[in-house]
Amino acid sequence: MRFNLDHDYTYSALCSLLMDQKITVKEVVLQCLQQIRAHQSLNAFARVYEEEVLAQSDEINQKIKEAKGGSLAGMVVGLKDMIAYKGHPLQAASKILTHYISPFNATVTERLLAADASIIGHQNCDEFGMGSSSENSIFGPVCNPLDQTRVAGGSSGGSAAAVKAKMCQVSMGTDTGGSVRQPAAFCGLVGLKPTYGRISRHGLVSYASSFDTAGILAHSVEDCARVLSVIAGPDGLDSTVAPKKVPDYLEELNPLTHYNIAYLEEALTNDALQPEIKQNTLTALAAFRKAGHQVDGIHFEWLKYALPTYYTLVNAEASTNLACYDGMRYGHRSSNATTLEEVYLKTRTEGFSREVKKRIMVGTFVLSVSQSKSHYVKALHARALIKRAMEDILNRYDFIILPTTITTAFLRDSFVANPLAMYWGDLYTVLASVAGLPAISVPNGVDSQQLPIGMQIIGNHFQEEKLLSFAHLFEQLSGA
Ligand code: GLN
Repeated sequence: MRFNLDHDYTYSALCSLLMDQKITVKEVVLQCLQQIRAHQSLNAFARVYEEEVLAQSDEINQKIKEAKGGSLAGMVVGLKDMIAYKGHPLQAASKILTHYISPFNATVTERLLAADASIIGHQNCDEFGMGSSSENSIFGPVCNPLDQTRVAGGSSGGSAAAVKAKMCQVSMGTDTGGSVRQPAAFCGLVGLKPTYGRISRHGLVSYASSFDTAGILAHSVEDCARVLSVIAGPDGLDSTVAPKKVPDYLEELNPLTHYNIAYLEEALTNDALQPEIKQNTLTALAAFRKAGHQVDGIHFEWLKYALPTYYTLVNAEASTNLACYDGMRYGHRSSNATTLEEVYLKTRTEGFSREVKKRIMVGTFVLSVSQSKSHYVKALHARALIKRAMEDILNRYDFIILPTTITTAFLRDSFVANPLAMYWGDLYTVLASVAGLPAISVPNGVDSQQLPIGMQIIGNHFQEEKLLSFAHLFEQLSGA
């Protein structure tokens, strides 16, 4: 090999070597395939499309030779098992989608392929994106490449593990309440959840439609910027995408010399917060202050309402979204059902895991006639209040900073006895999701066990270029 994957693992670093034809796309793909084989025990991939990606790599290389390569030519990308790739299985890590083959591409997939990215496979995750550890999967748990006794985070845990273990340069995940940012934090990566409505959801398996976004996991802000430029923007197949022009996010990576930054005091005085995460967040804030930026602590009394609001609404939406898995339309159908009702009942009983069934039942409950006013409608009101309070802050400040997670990557099986306790870990990521705001997690040092810590930056609606520039500034400031 004429390049060293230890150093050249971002696409941005590989790009000039590829364009100058010092290395071939096939060499990059082969290195990734080798990493996948060497680290199978991480369980990061649900399926690897080896032959196909190798065949594509020759075509892309030819295009590069003819100077016709797309803007992501030679980038090796993995897709979370929630993103449709035409002619390939799509399972959302669930038994209920066994044998389902997607007849179309997600818009994200379509645009990645059109930009000559190489799709290497589908990645393991929590079933239907429901979880924070990627242990709730028909494919078994994902392990953290930095310490295999620990989780890689979730629900896009396979996507994070794959990038960290250099099985691909970038992964496409989905983020409903933190599923890109939290695994990025646990694996020491950059994880971007854009504004709701920035990227098409066409071809993403739905969990909670008013929260779901596609998201990007990468080693650097620059790689995130490149991918976002390709996948963002209006799409005739998803009317919830904003009809806004998409900037060239890479070109726009120009940090300013002065920003106004707010941090949420309640997020740092939380007893459950691991002390080293608090310390590193404070150190980062001090570094910003020292570099001439304004940094103010803000009271945010709504923080304690974010989790109940989030879980009430996502379960409600999931209960309706998952109604289509009835044994008639997709995937698995129970083989010991005789009546129509039995087909529904047995298929869903067999096809969904306990966690998914629990959420469907909670969602059905909060939407039921007798409960919706006191639960679902109340949560909608709380959502509006939280959103407004966040927007108020962002009218006065450029960004809100808070930790991405309460702890660093926890041990596998930590929450077997009490799965509800895992929900607490989502406290800081659900805020941006409830408000539909863009947020990014960037590496912010490690704890005493050398486990990565993530810092989260929330920006204003559709200001990804500003958010990415600031995250890039932090990368430089922290020497990441
Ligand atoms: N852990 C959160 C949940 O289970 C977030 C998941 C996600 O963003 N897909 O709902």
